Amino acid sequence: MRWSFRLMTVAGIGLYIHVTFFILLIWIGAMYYLPRHSVPDALYGLAFVIALFIIIVLHELGHALTARRYGIRTRDITLLPIGGVARLERMPEDPRQELAVALAGPAVNVALAIIFFLVLVALSQPILPVNLGDVSIMSANFLRRLLWVNVILAGFNLLPAFPMDGGRVLRALLAMKMDYIHATHVAATIGQAVAIIFGFVGLFTNPFLVFIALFVWMGASAESSMVQMKAGLGGIPVSRVMITDFKTLKPDEPLAQAAEHLLAGYQQDFPVVDGGEQILGLLTRSRLVEGLAKNGQSTPVGNVMETNFVAAHPSEMAEAAFIRLQHSDCRSMPVLREGKLLGMVTAENVGEFLMIQAALHGEARPRMV
Ligand SMILES: [Zn+2]
Repeated sequence: MRWSFRLMTVAGIGLYIHVTFFILLIWIGAMYYLPRHSVPDALYGLAFVIALFIIIVLHELGHALTARRYGIRTRDITLLPIGGVARLERMPEDPRQELAVALAGPAVNVALAIIFFLVLVALSQPILPVNLGDVSIMSANFLRRLLWVNVILAGFNLLPAFPMDGGRVLRALLAMKMDYIHATHVAATIGQAVAIIFGFVGLFTNPFLVFIALFVWMGASAESSMVQMKAGLGGIPVSRVMITDFKTLKPDEPLAQAAEHLLAGYQQDFPVVDGGEQILGLLTRSRLVEGLAKNGQSTPVGNVMETNFVAAHPSEMAEAAFIRLQHSDCRSMPVLREGKLLGMVTAENVGEFLMIQAALHGEARPRMV
């Protein structure tokens, strides 16, 4: 994620902090400082937020380390002001594994709540009431707040709506009884119903709930489209979705020639090949525009083409190739057999393929590709 920097590595997973997180810290510090112009109050506020985010990191590590047991790596964990995000390489396809991964996060909060509860009991302190005016770090009240924060985090994350963990729990449970796409559809619909209730209650009570509702609504439809995409591409080789009608360039052709091709058709990225149809690079639209601006239109294509691109094999599964394309900086990928150019795959043509598949099978049109 942009505007994030690495704080440290935990269990081999990079932990990143988004810059907006510091705005939150400054804001919290100021909120605690202002009423009494007291530095200890500000430090208390910061200590509480930092404790809160350590709890959130532990929650995300719960997901990440459970996923690792099923051979799924986590790219990174990023802390945002709204919480943490663990980017797993993929979700497990077996519903029982997805259930375990989804439950592991809230389970960490339940475990932490139990620990804080036991510490309070050991100190013979009550667990209620929480006094929000008491700002002493070395007090039972601090522990009491951490106990209830964990209870709230567990409850909130278990709401049965994507992108909350509860949405995945619900989908995994449904997937044990029905097929995965149907299960996702039902879970997403329940999630959107939850979002409507949240939004409605929020209108009359707390505007913050309306934001959460929006977030949940978008999460539900994104999840549903993603699964439709995966299902539409399942078991289909690259050779069936690739474009075979496209223009290529020679490395010694001028950029003016490429600009003409760009304006004349729909194609945005041009494979650069030598006489034997061996691929040398990819002239992307942005490289072309940049090259024209910097070096002029007589510059040979070979001087500005992208040589660092992803490629696909014709017999490889389209889903794997498409995920690779999404994670690259290019919008299209050449399909190669032994370095020889056979076709091109672009996000648009995969989208078109899915639309045709959906129309043939009478399913709803996938919204996201
Ligand atoms: Zn979670």
